[in-house]
Amino acid sequence: MPTNTAIEHRRAAILSIGDELTLGQKVDTNSRWLSQQLVDLGISIVEHATIPDDLDAHVSALNRLASRCDLIISTGGLGPTADDLTREAIAIASSDSLIHDYDAEQQIRAWFTARGRIPASINMVQAKRPSRGSLLENNHGTAPGLFAHIAAESHRCDVFCLPGPPREMMPMFDAAVRPALRPPSGRVIETRVLHSVGIGESDLAQRLGSLMDRTNVPLVGTTASGGVVSVRIRYEGESPRQQAHAAVDAAARRVMQLAGEYVFGAGNDTLASVVLGRLKESGQTIAVVESCTGGMLGEELTAIPGSSACVLGGWITYSNQMKQSQVGVPGELCAPNGPGAVSHEVARAMACGGRERSGASIAVSITGVAGPDGGTPAKPVGTVWISLSHAKGSDTRRFSMAGDRASIRSWSCTAALAMAWQHLDGRSHSLLRQVEAHVA
Ligand code: AMP
Ligand code: MG
Repeated sequence: MPTNTAIEHRRAAILSIGDELTLGQKVDTNSRWLSQQLVDLGISIVEHATIPDDLDAHVSALNRLASRCDLIISTGGLGPTADDLTREAIAIASSDSLIHDYDAEQQIRAWFTARGRIPASINMVQAKRPSRGSLLENNHGTAPGLFAHIAAESHRCDVFCLPGPPREMMPMFDAAVRPALRPPSGRVIETRVLHSVGIGESDLAQRLGSLMDRTNVPLVGTTASGGVVSVRIRYEGESPRQQAHAAVDAAARRVMQLAGEYVFGAGNDTLASVVLGRLKESGQTIAVVESCTGGMLGEELTAIPGSSACVLGGWITYSNQMKQSQVGVPGELCAPNGPGAVSHEVARAMACGGRERSGASIAVSITGVAGPDGGTPAKPVGTVWISLSHAKGSDTRRFSMAGDRASIRSWSCTAALAMAWQHLDGRSHSLLRQVEAHVA
């Protein structure tokens, strides 16, 4: 455990190391998690940097970041093989040399012995550390972490090097890094996220108006992802925590005044989790009948822990024959001279049949043309009908979804969940990409 961290950690950078990251073969989830931990502590993040397994790139990234920050947390490059260069890089950047740490060697041997294995000789490379640095114990793998500091021109920068695998990195951060951090006293970072659906990002920005000015405290910004637009509110400053909290509260209330009818949740809420929450609160159940989404809606709902309390089940009725035999869609609706499988009549019949046959309080159906083939002038690719059947009737809407097959399918699930949320929450505004609606 490092004991010489007397400085304040105000400005931090996160350095992700690995060819698999720069080649785009692996998503960097470590930076995201580490940022969340540091921001919660009140430490500002000035940069996320990602570099390949290359010694020069590594040393220059460390030096460059150290000149701007008083804290660097790196992940990756601590394995035993030739492409694991974190030990060498930190030794060079901190003008130090590597020594063999005999305590660490014992820990590595003990880790292998406890698993009935014998360490390979290359594993002993993991017992090396900069002479003035220290090792951080790894209880979940063989690679110890490292602590060292780099003397920048006018200040010192503390560097913590953690292993790449998240299941080793996260416990090491909690055990060895978090207690050693010195967040700036009095500095507060307070964040809030509100999630909206049914409105485009630019329309939402227009509604929020001057609330989004970049000079505002707190700062308000938006991010769109798959049909959901999230509003991020961030206070960063020296006010007492209570005051920061009140300022963020006030901004959140203003967002609700300006666009509240579109806001379905906050923080870690998702449309599926909110729908399940509403069902649970009101003692209701749901069933799904899916054609072009092939089970994605059921998957989204059942991915939420505790979903068994209100998800009864569903059908994937891809063919016309299955639509008829499984949920009782009348044959003439799918016939060549009928409205066809992608129509409000069939969507409604699927939802009503699914509700009746499952006994659920509500049922949601999806039928559409996900493409790339199968579009016609009357029903181009992206035409999707979604219907919701409930005790008092049905709500059936046509959407014109943009994008490829994957995005049409995923937008369809979002729209279906948005319709369920609106129904359960007593809302009825038109949703993004909605072009027609039938209420019966
Ligand atoms: P390393 O410590 O470089 O040997 O990393 C070993 C493994 O950790 C890699 O193969 C990845 O699977 C994982 N990993 C490394 N960096 C990251 C990262 N930034 N985010 C998520 N996983 C990572
Ligand atoms: Mg690596």
